Amino acid sequence: MPTCPVYKKCGGCQLQNMEHADQLRYKQGKIIGLLGKFCRVGEIVGMEDPYHYRNKVQAAFGRDRRGIISGVYQSSSHRIVPIDSCLIEDKKADAVIVTIRKLMASFKLEPFNDNTLRGFMRHVLVKRSFSTGQLMVVLVTGTAVFPSKNNFIEALLKEHPEITTIVQNINNKFTNLVLGSRSIVLYGEGKIEDELLGCRFRISPKSFYQINPVQTEKLYSLAMEYAGLTGKETVLDAYCGTGTIGIIAAKKGAKKVIGVELNADAVKDAKENAALNNIENIEFICADASDFMIALAQEKVHLDAVIMDPPRAGSTVQFMRSAIKLAPDRIVYISCNPETLARDLGYFTKHGYEVKKLRPVDMFPHTSHVECVALLVRTVSTTKLALSGK
Ligand code: SAH
Repeated sequence: MPTCPVYKKCGGCQLQNMEHADQLRYKQGKIIGLLGKFCRVGEIVGMEDPYHYRNKVQAAFGRDRRGIISGVYQSSSHRIVPIDSCLIEDKKADAVIVTIRKLMASFKLEPFNDNTLRGFMRHVLVKRSFSTGQLMVVLVTGTAVFPSKNNFIEALLKEHPEITTIVQNINNKFTNLVLGSRSIVLYGEGKIEDELLGCRFRISPKSFYQINPVQTEKLYSLAMEYAGLTGKETVLDAYCGTGTIGIIAAKKGAKKVIGVELNADAVKDAKENAALNNIENIEFICADASDFMIALAQEKVHLDAVIMDPPRAGSTVQFMRSAIKLAPDRIVYISCNPETLARDLGYFTKHGYEVKKLRPVDMFPHTSHVECVALLVRTVSTTKLALSGK
């Protein structure tokens, strides 16, 4: 039985009608069905306490008969489902959002209206680091003018002294995107830091960051185990985002790491993250991963391992063809979409690689999403092929 009163309307936790143990069995079965033909599927890495795991929470603001409401958009609609607390969101983040809603009434701040583009508070985004305790609040507003700004901030900090930074982001366009292009830091440094596997990472309002840090550590550890680094390897971290995996690899055994990522903001964050951790054996390139891989293959760059973590659409034939030409001993494929993973493993296994290990990780309990890590190794025949120069 789903315990959440808005289970149906919200639609975020598709599997909440199942016991958690059954959810894991369901996910394991799904992965065996899709990927079992490639290798024996290891046991899904579950989460001990599968609640309140989301370190990033966002709420939309609006109005109904009762007054100001905050919550999530009803699935496939633009109507707001009022929510005060959610079973998978961080409790502190939820509490901050409720406080902001209450303060809005006493400060007479109107919610933003998406149709008329009038009003003030559009969304609130909260990001919290469970390891450092730092907490960032982003107030997304329709106008830059913030009536009673200082008093509002003072009142918010009084209720929640755990807040370490507050940012105002202005978004006054017709758009489904939460954040607009302009941000003003109102309090603190405008960013927070989190720690994963002994490395520190900067999180800004816009930067991509894994939303379940407890499971992310398990996911990244598994990726490191599969990469089998000994201190001698040159490693490519493809689709590297803000550089988390590459930085951990550079610190924990790679001789040299190259990270490639399409999003320029993420690359900027990745470079800052490398500096923050005093990592010098890493470089980040802003490029399309496929184009970059084709260039590496033309230059015959030596790679010992490729770690790849593409978006839901998976990788491309161009990327994989070039990766195969470069013939790294190991390819570690992290995937958030088992369907495209199945397609891409099919390609690799037809071209001289073998799936040695594969394990699902439950990154998003109560939802239907499943993350997987697969280890591909080059088979003997390709080694022979490479040696004979074919
Ligand atoms: N490995 C990172 C991010 C994974 S998300 C982490 O664990 O945090 C996938 C990333 O692929 C995103 O950052 C996205 O911007 C990037 N991406 C999407 N298409 C790409 C492409 N064609 N070339 C390079 N990177 C791409």
